[in-house]
Amino acid sequence: MTAAAAPTALMRQYLDVKARYPDAIVFFRLGDFYEMFYEDATYVAKTLGLTLTTRDKGKEDPVPMCGVPHHAVRTYLVKLTELGHRVALCEQLEDPKSVRGIVKRDVVRVVTPGVNLDEQSLEPREPSFVAAAIGDGRRGYGLAFLDVSTGDFHATEASSAEALVDELARAEPKELVLGDGAADPSDGELAQLLRRAYPRVPQARAPGGGSAAATLRATLRAGYDDTVVERTPLAAAAAARVREYARATQPGAALPVTRLDVYRRADTLVLDEQARAHLELTESLQTRKRQGSLLDVIDETRSAMGGRLLRRWLLFPLVDVAAIRRRHDAVERLVGAHEARDRIRAQLGEIADLERLVGRARLGVATPRDLAVLGRSLAGLPALVAALDDARAAELVGDDDDLLRLGDANEPGGGLGADLAETLTRTLRPDSPATTKEGGYVAAGISAELDDLVAIASGGRERLSAIETRERERTGIPSLKVKFNNVFGYYIEVTRANLAKGDVPADYTRKQTVANAERFVTPELADFEQKILTADERRVALELEIFGRLRDEVAAADERLLALAARVAAVDALASLAEVAHRAGYCRPVVDESGVVELADARHPVVERLAAAGAFVPNDLRLDPAAEQVLVVTGPNMAGKSTLIRQVGLTVILAQMGSFVPARAARIGVCDRVFTRVGAGDNLARGESTFLVEMRETAHILRYATPRSLVILDEIGRGTSTYDGVSIAWAVAEHLHDRVGAKTLFATHYHELTALTATHARVRNASVAASEWKGEVVFLRKLQPGGASRSFGVEVAKLAGLPPAVVERARAILRTLESQGDAGADTPRAVVPASVTPAPQLGLFAPTPPPAPAPPPTPSGPPPEVVAEILTTLGAIDVDDLSPRAAHDVLAQLTKKLTTPR
Ligand code: ADP
Repeated sequence: MTAAAAPTALMRQYLDVKARYPDAIVFFRLGDFYEMFYEDATYVAKTLGLTLTTRDKGKEDPVPMCGVPHHAVRTYLVKLTELGHRVALCEQLEDPKSVRGIVKRDVVRVVTPGVNLDEQSLEPREPSFVAAAIGDGRRGYGLAFLDVSTGDFHATEASSAEALVDELARAEPKELVLGDGAADPSDGELAQLLRRAYPRVPQARAPGGGSAAATLRATLRAGYDDTVVERTPLAAAAAARVREYARATQPGAALPVTRLDVYRRADTLVLDEQARAHLELTESLQTRKRQGSLLDVIDETRSAMGGRLLRRWLLFPLVDVAAIRRRHDAVERLVGAHEARDRIRAQLGEIADLERLVGRARLGVATPRDLAVLGRSLAGLPALVAALDDARAAELVGDDDDLLRLGDANEPGGGLGADLAETLTRTLRPDSPATTKEGGYVAAGISAELDDLVAIASGGRERLSAIETRERERTGIPSLKVKFNNVFGYYIEVTRANLAKGDVPADYTRKQTVANAERFVTPELADFEQKILTADERRVALELEIFGRLRDEVAAADERLLALAARVAAVDALASLAEVAHRAGYCRPVVDESGVVELADARHPVVERLAAAGAFVPNDLRLDPAAEQVLVVTGPNMAGKSTLIRQVGLTVILAQMGSFVPARAARIGVCDRVFTRVGAGDNLARGESTFLVEMRETAHILRYATPRSLVILDEIGRGTSTYDGVSIAWAVAEHLHDRVGAKTLFATHYHELTALTATHARVRNASVAASEWKGEVVFLRKLQPGGASRSFGVEVAKLAGLPPAVVERARAILRTLESQGDAGADTPRAVVPASVTPAPQLGLFAPTPPPAPAPPPTPSGPPPEVVAEILTTLGAIDVDDLSPRAAHDVLAQLTKKLTTPR
């Protein structure tokens, strides 16, 4: 082969691979480097700041080229997939030393934004879904999402594009697979729609595939239900599409997919992107970090798979009362069994990520360390089962124990994987390395041949020292040493000073001269070396063979191992909910179909956690579609309105996911959806104005809410002029009352809305109390019936640090306005000069409402006005100038105020 022909043949090999992976950046392995060529090289060099060179320098058309060292490839893969790219890893499939000419190369894996098996770039507690969508307005839509690292696989159908977009939000895909338009022209529209809704989720084209039924049957094996394709053709088509895509990324391995969960959206409490974001379910709205989210508060799981399942439960709460109660039963049982719960959680902490380990075994990337860890985890299961049995015995709640039952060790096939646990722990050393390169992981006693080979190696060491001793005696050189290096293997080293004293024996052949010594080899050493090296090579190969069989055995057991992992994950999620319920004092909610939401001493789970101990003020609240359907909550800024209405949404979600709730007592009539329109959430990324977004979200709610929904509205209509805003808010509230019938919490600073009670039977007013003390506003955080009496806007402005002169001026203007007869219309428009302040011009606000029917006073805590009086009295006291007698009198006076009924 001539020197010039080699590159050409190599480039032909490269171009062939690139032609098969046109949508991916090809990392082409050449020795210790992955090289890129042509446009891939130009692009990646520029984007990642690598040096761009050329191949075939001096030729007319040099090929642009850049490379990354193979040991550092992970960093580059992470960067490129984060940018939305796919990278095809093309490896050398033969040992270059043993091949003449070009080494065989092919793509072993494609790393994409959604399909990544690298442990270190996967979030342990988050799924890594790649999703496929299919369909058009006429037939409806199908959606499927698959986590290739665990085999977690779900599919559903949606009747509208909006529903599809909503559902995708909680599927949290890292990558979207869409049709290429070849078979269906509507693919393009769908791609565009989803690009607009999820600009940050990279899109990929689906590979053309066979029939959905054939694909699913091949993937799911025993788990395939052949009615799926008939009953839910679009879900099945999407599932087949995502599976084909994932399959193509792993040309040499089988996917760990054994089950497809086809669900109906209506069987879950539907949560769209707004609800998820505004209620801060999985991340804080401000920081987009997990800290400060509901998940952060309730996640006390001890294993990664438990963490992922809890997240799934939170994003897909249930609506079936019996299923919800089953989870509550299990949580109640675990709350009651303190000691057993501690043991259960300790055991769970010892269990590694079974799902991802099985996935890695099936995908052929598991290492000896992975399987050793898997073995230990499985071996720990009987202790977990024993602790669970104790928890069950401790307190009898329901009689349905399924959720806390892992399986029976005596089941045929080994319900707890005891057989595999035994094989794995016996075969692999506990300290097995994360690579098979050098062997050293197969335990003694597994293979007689292997034990012999190991003995040769260790016997070799003794033999070496024997040779050394003998040679020292023979030559009379006590400092003579037998050593080893990679260049010429075993040798004898004699220092220069000793050489001068006499000759070395005739069978020594001089090999090398170094600064202070001479190095020799002997026929005996050469022979010995050959034996050792052969034994070592054979040992590594033999270990690899044993390991390969072990990995296949695990891969073949994937179905039952994944089923077992799912049960462990459920126990972990339930134990987490029980731990939180116990620590934070949550109660078991009564769940029914009544439609009523009734809470006693309810708290906000996240705000409560962040507040000082005991500082959070609990509140009572009742919503009933038949009577108290719309609750208009007024009160000054900072009073706690947003917190209150959000905590109701969070409580409903918690209850329906199977959790206890932060309240003294709670009754939750199951909801089909929780809608939110909270805060002035901006969407600058999509270049839309705040007001437009607000109105779009509101429109969405009015369109899709049902009488079984819970609607949480915070400050509707704020993004426009006061008149526009109040009119829109009014009309929205009316529509929800008259047409939709959904339970609604409506926080607003438009006091005009309190007049709705006059004309709308199921509207109630409530306000979060605040009081004034020495010119300062005091927030009491207590929800009380009726609208707020005043807004304390000026006091809050003062609190926020507005200059005193401005505060004083504002007070003066307010007094003038109020004296001009606009008192009561305590809204921001009070700043409008009196001459232009119109009388209520819309006709909406007249007639003046009769006082709202007063529900019974809140049972806990004194009424706010009493608190205010008490504060005033206390404020007037000069403690330094107070006799004990006078102090006693004041105390008596205060106590009387508190105890006298009003
Ligand atoms: P609003 O919506 O009325 O402007 P927020 O709900 O944003 O008020 O509440 C303002 C702050 O008050 C919150 O950040 C929270 O720390 C505190 N807060 C709200 N509700 C309570 C409560 N019930 N107990 C104690 N602190 C509360």
